[in-house]
Amino acid sequence: MYEELKAIVGEEFVSKEPEELYIYSSDPGTMPPVKPDYVVMPKTTEEVQKIVLLANKHKVPVVPMGGALSLSGLVRPLRGGIVVDMKRMDRIIEVNEKARYAVIEAGVSEGRLKAYLDKKYPSLRISTPDAPPIATVTANALIHGSGRLSQIYGFHSEMITGMEVVLPTGEICRVGSCSVSPYWFSRSPLPDLAGLFIGWFGRTGIVTKLGIKLFPKHRYRDVMIFVTENPSYVSDVIWRVAHTEMAEDITVWAQPRPEWAEGFQHTTIYVTADSEEELEFKKKIIRNALMDYIKQKEGGFLYLTPGMKAMFLQEPMSQLVRFADVRRGGGFEYVGAILPVDLFDVAYQKGLEIVERLGIDWAFSIRIIGRSHCMMFAYAYPFNRADEEDVERARKALHETNKAVLEMGGIPWKAEAPAQQLILESMDEGAKRLIKSVIEMLDPNGVMNPGNWEVK
Ligand SMILES: Cc1cc2nc3c(=O)[nH]c(=O)nc-3n(C[C@H](O)[C@H](O)[C@H](O)COP(=O)(O)OP(=O)(O)OC[C@H]3O[C@@H](n4cnc5c(N)ncnc54)[C@H](O)[C@@H]3O)c2cc1C
Repeated sequence: MYEELKAIVGEEFVSKEPEELYIYSSDPGTMPPVKPDYVVMPKTTEEVQKIVLLANKHKVPVVPMGGALSLSGLVRPLRGGIVVDMKRMDRIIEVNEKARYAVIEAGVSEGRLKAYLDKKYPSLRISTPDAPPIATVTANALIHGSGRLSQIYGFHSEMITGMEVVLPTGEICRVGSCSVSPYWFSRSPLPDLAGLFIGWFGRTGIVTKLGIKLFPKHRYRDVMIFVTENPSYVSDVIWRVAHTEMAEDITVWAQPRPEWAEGFQHTTIYVTADSEEELEFKKKIIRNALMDYIKQKEGGFLYLTPGMKAMFLQEPMSQLVRFADVRRGGGFEYVGAILPVDLFDVAYQKGLEIVERLGIDWAFSIRIIGRSHCMMFAYAYPFNRADEEDVERARKALHETNKAVLEMGGIPWKAEAPAQQLILESMDEGAKRLIKSVIEMLDPNGVMNPGNWEVK
């Protein structure tokens, strides 16, 4: 197999060296390492196709990998086989400025696309997640990620306009308008085949090219932070701010550090505009929407120094990455619970109960998605990977949190394999049968990232 892989990608881009396989066997989360047999770095769709055909010939699993930063062990080859690292497929193929979309290869990172647009198309932007910039745009959209424009436009998966996919059998197909036209502008009005590849964790094919929506980038940005000391107010605060339609992004964070932040909920509201007048107008409308809380002394805006503003306006926020390593030792994972916004208080109290009982470091960080249609409630637990007790505590907290989220009516996002099983246990039988049939139909040899969404 090694010789055959070498013939496809070249000796430099295939490895079976133990030290390299070790690096590819885990991510910064708590899931135990699983070693691949080979790692390859293809450059073209045709190379990806040849790798998948080879995997079918030998009945060996193939696992696509972007930045390996989903933190829930999603790129570990659960049944061994070939990890396909997409990072060399990093071409930005096209930007259609007027129709506001980009066509990229699957290995293009968030940082690269953002930097490219900042330089060449300064009036356009993508919705960036707060993940480190080496995360890939494609994997993030495929796992239903969210970011700076999700409050207005929804999950990043909703921003996909089309894709080119290598199916588990090795066939290449296009979905979306690019299957009919040279333009990658929309998934509608065709049967929406993109759903066969979104949210599946690479179980149904390897996406090699992606069409992604771009959005206007405004000249002015500002940030406001509204503070409450009672979590039962927060869903109403979110509702009021979203109702104004003046905020670009709304996040909420609560954490025990620094000391001044403990016990408070901070609703962070980002406002953008093309003139200072428009910016001030938007901020005024938002302030007015929360005036009842201010008058009743139940909440107020935090004064932000220029340094604090700069920190909150940074994209992605480097402070978050620093928090992720607060215990040292590079361990970090969170349960990203997708929940209706009105469950904020229940979700908050449950989280506090878990962290207090287990005595674990924590931070809650919430992003509002689609004008408060739902939220991603992240229960983040940093840990030291060199300290087995610390890892075990975080693993327990994550497991208990996953269970609690399902009990309260939410769904864990980018769920690790054991959490996928918890979700399947709660799932409608008809939906489960459909998942099984789709996998069997698309992947008759069971080679594509097996072990994920495994309906027993
Ligand atoms: C500090 C911090 C902050 C974060 N903040 C955010 C945030 O604000 N928003 C957010 O959404 N996420 C956030 N994350 C989580 C995560 O880093 C991102 O979701 C990231 O974008 C995942 O992309 P990736 O390239 O690392 O995916 P990977 O982990 O490489 O892959 C994820 C899944 O997609 C599959 N896959 C990868 N490439 C392909 C392909 N080409 N075709 C088919 N399947 C594929 C993989 O097999 C895997 O199942 C954060 C993480 C950290 C550490």
